[in-house]
Amino acid sequence: MSAFPAVFSGARFAVLGLGRNGLPAAMALAAMGAEVWPWDDELAARVAAEAAGVTPRNPAPALARCDGLVLSPGIPHRLPAPHPLAEAARAARVPIICDAELLYRAVRAAGSRARFVGITGTNGKSTTTALLAHLLAEARIPVAAGGNLGPAALALPLLPDDGIFVLEMSSYMLERIETIRFDAAAMLNLSPDHLDRHGDMAGYIAAKREIFARQASSDTAVVGIEDAASRAMADSLAQPSDGPRVVRIAGATLADVSGADGILRDSTGEIVDLRSARALPGAHNAQNAAAAAALAIALGVSRRDIARGITSFPGLAHRQERVGTIDGIVFINDSKATNADSTARALACHERVVWIAGGIAKAGGIESLAPFFSRIDEAFLIGRDAGMLAATLAQHRVPHRIVGSLDRAVPEAFAVARKSAAVVLLSPACASFDQFSGFEARGDRFRALVAALAEGRAA
Ligand code: ADP
Repeated sequence: MSAFPAVFSGARFAVLGLGRNGLPAAMALAAMGAEVWPWDDELAARVAAEAAGVTPRNPAPALARCDGLVLSPGIPHRLPAPHPLAEAARAARVPIICDAELLYRAVRAAGSRARFVGITGTNGKSTTTALLAHLLAEARIPVAAGGNLGPAALALPLLPDDGIFVLEMSSYMLERIETIRFDAAAMLNLSPDHLDRHGDMAGYIAAKREIFARQASSDTAVVGIEDAASRAMADSLAQPSDGPRVVRIAGATLADVSGADGILRDSTGEIVDLRSARALPGAHNAQNAAAAAALAIALGVSRRDIARGITSFPGLAHRQERVGTIDGIVFINDSKATNADSTARALACHERVVWIAGGIAKAGGIESLAPFFSRIDEAFLIGRDAGMLAATLAQHRVPHRIVGSLDRAVPEAFAVARKSAAVVLLSPACASFDQFSGFEARGDRFRALVAALAEGRAA
């Protein structure tokens, strides 16, 4: 691994949005020799950029002479309303691109033949990305992983010819690629998401499909087949004879690579018993494991290394993460579950649960969780919409208490769990912004409270 040479000398880029993607992009592009016009509409972001050594300058006057506008994923270029700079770029025929596109160009311009893997889907992207990176590292392949999760694409180092970049690609990023060709790519699943940005489900699916753009017959397309839209995508990819090799994957049913009945297997037979993978509970994680294994097989990793890596995967923070055990009671941090769908997956993994939930509820609340209510010994409700959640639980006669804060919920939930030998599960089914800066801060607070409880002190 090494730093990039000046592959963009003579090029000029506007970078709009100086957050976790834009700031490293501006720095990297400058280090690669480009003339950079970094900008953010927010004064606070400009001040932070300046402090990090990036001097903001509004790209509007230079835009028409730029080779690209690097737009942060959160800034729309089309729907619901394009940012004025994005509109100006389009009028001036300046390509709107994402940082992953520029990483690909930089790697190729530096002469490296390192391979690229892209991972997308509505759910499971981060887990699959982290898992594949772990499998490759276990197999001693030089790997750099990032993108939507972890380090931004342009914060990754240059890898040699035998290296592999593993990029988590959001639908927003996929609308802004032009030349990336993924040697292996995965599209896990599709359910309605971000429709304000993509117009409708068809627009969202079209963006996701871009992960397979430019793939040739030597490349691999891994596609989940557990929802109708993904199945249709797999079928259409398999039609052209010069298209990629399509590998169908599933967590709960049989497929080319499948995790059905808790056994990860392909056409050759069993790869590993998923019960030995503590950080990958549930059918949804079986789907992620099947995708990561299919990609790893396509990249030449041995079945033995895959089996070993799946078992030793430590898991990602805030996604069904075991943060402690006190007197035999397991505490699970699933703070990333900001909607009922995600919480359903966590509840499905445990027989007896003392549940901590609440925050800012999504449309529909928690009614869809009713099939799991019989597993809940008691619910402890926090945050703005605790009352609304309580009303649903009351209707279904689920014992619950409105405790308001996570600080109160943790010790009270522990006291109940001790009596019934249940797990204590933080899986809020709600956004966190009423009480926390984000799901990470909420999960970190939970972890600190559990640690304090274990040591018998105040957090
Ligand atoms: P993403 O990066 O796509 O948001 P993550 O890997 O961070 O996905 O997982 C986020 C949450 O989504 C998990 O806590 C779990 O509840 C749910 N999830 C993970 N993988 C899947 C999957 N394959 N199918 C459906 N839901 C999933």
